[in-house]
Amino acid sequence: MIVRVLVEIKAKAVDKTFDYQVPSELQKNMQVGIRVIVPFGAQELEGYVLEITNTTNVEELKEVIAIKDEEIILNDELMKIGLAMKEETLCSLSSAYITMLPRALKARKKADIKKKYTTFLSLNTPIDVALNLAKNENQKTIVSLFASSEFISKKEAQEISSSATNTLIKNHILKEEAKETYRYQVKEWEQDEKKELNQEQRHAYAHIVANLTTAKTFLLQGVTGSGKTEIYMQLIEKVIHLKKQALVLVPEISLTPQFVANFARRFEDNIAVLHSGLSEGEKYDEWRKINRGEVSIVIGARSAIFAPLKNIGIIIVDECHSDSYKQENTPKYRVLDIATFRSNYHTCPLVLGSATPTLEMAARGKKGVYELLELKHRVNQFPLPTCTIVDMKEEVKQKSPIISRKLQEEIAKRLELEEQVMLLLNRRGYSTNVMCSSCGFTYKCPHCDITLTYHKTTKSLRCHYCGYTKYVDARCPNCHEDALNYLGLGTEKLETILKEKFPKARVIRMDTDTTARKGVLEKIIEEFKEGNYDILIGTQMISKGLDFPKVTLVGIVNADLSFNIPDFRSGEKTFALLYQASGRAGRSNIPGSVIIQTYNPENYILNCVKEQNYEKFYQYEMDIRRNLKYPPYYFLAQIIIKSKDYELAKKEAMQTVSYIKQNREPHTIVLGPTTANVFRKKNTYHFEILIKYRFDTLLKDTLKQLDQLFITKKNVSIDIDMSY
Ligand code: ADP
Ligand code: ZN
Repeated sequence: MIVRVLVEIKAKAVDKTFDYQVPSELQKNMQVGIRVIVPFGAQELEGYVLEITNTTNVEELKEVIAIKDEEIILNDELMKIGLAMKEETLCSLSSAYITMLPRALKARKKADIKKKYTTFLSLNTPIDVALNLAKNENQKTIVSLFASSEFISKKEAQEISSSATNTLIKNHILKEEAKETYRYQVKEWEQDEKKELNQEQRHAYAHIVANLTTAKTFLLQGVTGSGKTEIYMQLIEKVIHLKKQALVLVPEISLTPQFVANFARRFEDNIAVLHSGLSEGEKYDEWRKINRGEVSIVIGARSAIFAPLKNIGIIIVDECHSDSYKQENTPKYRVLDIATFRSNYHTCPLVLGSATPTLEMAARGKKGVYELLELKHRVNQFPLPTCTIVDMKEEVKQKSPIISRKLQEEIAKRLELEEQVMLLLNRRGYSTNVMCSSCGFTYKCPHCDITLTYHKTTKSLRCHYCGYTKYVDARCPNCHEDALNYLGLGTEKLETILKEKFPKARVIRMDTDTTARKGVLEKIIEEFKEGNYDILIGTQMISKGLDFPKVTLVGIVNADLSFNIPDFRSGEKTFALLYQASGRAGRSNIPGSVIIQTYNPENYILNCVKEQNYEKFYQYEMDIRRNLKYPPYYFLAQIIIKSKDYELAKKEAMQTVSYIKQNREPHTIVLGPTTANVFRKKNTYHFEILIKYRFDTLLKDTLKQLDQLFITKKNVSIDIDMSY
């Protein structure tokens, strides 16, 4: 018996399998899709068995040293997904597999995450015999525990009496046994029961249910608060009834205990959860539960799309427009592509839910590639919030440059009524930068191309790209005047200002700085929901999917911020962010209002947000995309050439452009090289090349060759994103 093993080696070049002889004692347990330990040069490496065979071209075969897994970890479907990822994103096969699996199952020697075992006790004799043998009250109490269950954890028995437990074991009345246990527990949460679907919900539900055995994609476009989650849950109920499984993807932030517990109330412990808040041990346990078919529902963030469910009946991607569904690092895969693959593999529907789908998705919905299902109203006909745009140019003249008079007035009103307020400011930190009013000096990161952000709690300036930190000088380091000023506004400063303006209000802030520690995010959400705070300040974190019935006012403190990102999607992203944030207001019977503060009150997109009008935004933005040849009219690939050596990076980037131009179809557009958004990051120069194409049969091969070419180059590297 010979096996082909994919060995994990860092370099891209070695994406090859190697053949090994399987010694006879290992043959019985050898399977495709498990990890083995093999000799590789002077080392011992782990690898995945991709094939079992009898033939080889290798003359002298080395032998497999050991088998690492009892259970298959790369089943047929996952293997195929890996191959598809390699083909579509141009990554290596081993990096695809490594991305798909929890750390405990990666073919890497270092990560040794163990299964957890718990000691259980069971009776050696019938219970009446045991009760007779028991010598005292404590022993009897312990034995009587076994009347209702066969196994009791040793810990539980010891809590009654540790000496009695030990005696019972010593006298062979009880026996000990170590059992594999799972670390993660879904917490219970008070929540109301299954809802009767309203007419719009029923219509959408019925359409999907009628297609439960087709690989069809549905775009469920429902305004905020239209009850999409309820539809998901009832669809899942149906799927479980058919003895199939459901895979539910949500953005990381929505994976709060509340959300999970909503599901848990309906589906009890039939759920596994996968997200970055779990420890590696917990992730490993959840993965095994899924792999063993012990749960019917998986809820998770991006990488949960690879959950090893074997009989999927529905895939749901909630808030499908979210950035988090595209992985930024290699392999740069999109959840949408993997979900489509799995929907085809299992012949089951894929449901994409959002109030603000991406233009690509919406266009497919309109063309009928996806079946569009709309929910135009909030449940119970609660109105969408009313929205006011405030011109901040005017407010500056009136000396209220941060919180406008209107916003101040409205906040005061809500505090009076004991309702809640959310304020969105998409920039963390205290002030954006520190500038000398005498000479104009600003602090820049010495390694990156951006200004440093001031953080008051740590009294330091920080680079949001590389984490570089420095203290502010007493005087301007350039002109030595005592004239350093704090400019701009971040969430931290907003918090200080609010506390001054509304000293009685209970204010809490939610951004990556306040939620770095595990569990803090959940706690803030919980406490705000319970009414322990009046005002929640936050970055885009607070905009997604959160349901706080008592929030009646949402303030967008600086709507212009996200327009400034140099990205052709900034309009779309701003619309989604502000629309979603607005949607947090008025989600129960008290109508909500939204106040948008801006220096550009005429801005078209802001006015679409004001009207809560997706369709108007769509028409406007599609026009721009058509004129500028951007997606969905063209596909876009991005290439970044990186080097610490400026001249080298530039030269390679120019050569890359001419190489592509010689090996593409004529209508494909190649732009660049230009300096990337952040040109210098961690002392590395970034040149960008953009490729706009529609149908180009040459392009993929060209890029594959480029990728290979760069493996051998020194001090310069290439980064290709096929679905930019
Ligand atoms: P969305 O995800 O579309 O923004 P949610 O699923 O969060 O909306 O639903 C908003 C609120 O409406 C939730 O509190 C939910 O429990 C409630 N809800 C959903 N469907 C119904 C229904 N048919 N009847 C009554 N309440 C509902
Ligand atoms: Zn930096």
